Amino acid sequence: MITIRRILVPTDFSECATPAVRYAAELADRFEAELVLLHVVPDTVLALPDAVMPTPTPMADLDALTESGKIGLANLITAMKLEKYKPRAEVRLGSPEQEIVEAVKDLNVDLVCIATHGREGIARVLLGSVAEMVVRHATCPVLTVRPGTC
Ligand code: ADP
Repeated sequence: MITIRRILVPTDFSECATPAVRYAAELADRFEAELVLLHVVPDTVLALPDAVMPTPTPMADLDALTESGKIGLANLITAMKLEKYKPRAEVRLGSPEQEIVEAVKDLNVDLVCIATHGREGIARVLLGSVAEMVVRHATCPVLTVRPGTC
């Protein structure tokens, strides 16, 4: 018997992440599961003039990005009318793929819903795909949602 009690949906607030949020919300509704929205503030950035090498995110930016991550999740909950799912909103700091995989373990997540397209161009080449790393390393099933499929 498959039990899905907690569904994790990571978001970078890009438009591509929206369909995965919708999938997660509907599944949470059908399985009477808890919905957890997660935003990770990256602790490294690609900054000029050393844009080819990720550098640590400046401390002041980390605080501001954490605050805007919290506001972003609250706004997402309102904009997508998610209050009825009683979502939990989490902001973590670190490498997005690692933090998502860690959150699966810490929070006993049963399913991750993640979009497969967000980052493009040089950043994609240098940083790789978050979705791909989550699929490879998460200790629970992962539902991937491509843009335009929902
Ligand atoms: P792709 O897998 O197409 O390369 P990305 O790896 O940039 O695209 O992002 C895929 C998805 O991973 C995003 O739509 C989002 O759901 C999730 N994601 C990416 N970065 C973050 C982040 N900082 N915090 C939470 N989720 C993220």
